[in-house]
Amino acid sequence: MPLIINDIYPEKLFREDGKRLDGREKNELRPIKMEVGVISNADGSAYLEWGNNKIYAAVYGPREVHPHHLAKPDRGILRVFYRMATFSVFERKRPAPGRREKEISMIITDCLEPVLFLELYPGTAFEVFIEVMDADGGTRCASTTVAALALADAGVPMRSLVSSVAVGKIDGQLVTDLSGIEDKAGDADLPCAITWFNEELSLLQFDGDMSIEELNESLLNARNALDQIHQLQLTALKSKYTSILEEVEGGED
Ligand code: ADP
Repeated sequence: MPLIINDIYPEKLFREDGKRLDGREKNELRPIKMEVGVISNADGSAYLEWGNNKIYAAVYGPREVHPHHLAKPDRGILRVFYRMATFSVFERKRPAPGRREKEISMIITDCLEPVLFLELYPGTAFEVFIEVMDADGGTRCASTTVAALALADAGVPMRSLVSSVAVGKIDGQLVTDLSGIEDKAGDADLPCAITWFNEELSLLQFDGDMSIEELNESLLNARNALDQIHQLQLTALKSKYTSILEEVEGGED
């Protein structure tokens, strides 16, 4: 049964036993599964399950820019298209890309650009298509994470991966990785992303209210979660090559 009906939220976001409604501890991530090379027609791709979020990312490029007037003579461009499927949320989402999707596409572009060597690809575009099949809070962070993985799978030279997570506050307590219901009924939501080559934040949004001390602690919580997500990304990338190696070695007998 859906937990949110007609925007009526539960009164409490913690259970009697002190755990969150989905059984997590305050700083526990939802279960995360990642896989690369999932779309055969793309130059690179990745799939991510993050709690109830299910997201595909497909990368094409460097390739010719359409429309041509968007091309830059001295550098390549990165274009990100974030879309949510009509069936991805409880109420049917309008199929046409809305303002929210355009804004999130722009945010993800800004998160990823610093790790790319766009100056080496004048006149061309890298295009990242993100399809959210199932959404349950934190899709901009999950999409950034899976898009970075798809870029790496495409063999695009990168300074590093990018990882992203939202931290925040619900029922007065600081938590990591807000679910949809925690995002809507909670006190504060702070999506952030890190570019690992310089360990700088390439995204920091803030919605809600918290004290400066809580903000500092939230950023430390984010840092811990980002480390875990980075490891999962690296494992997903390596496992593709490990399985190719096993196939080749198996075929040598
Ligand atoms: P994010 O997914 O990055 O947290 P938002 O804060 O805008 O972005 O959205 C929070 C959650 O609200 C989404 O993950 C999704 O589950 C839900 N949501 C977003 N847009 C819609 C929509 N048009 N209809 C119903 N639910 C939506």
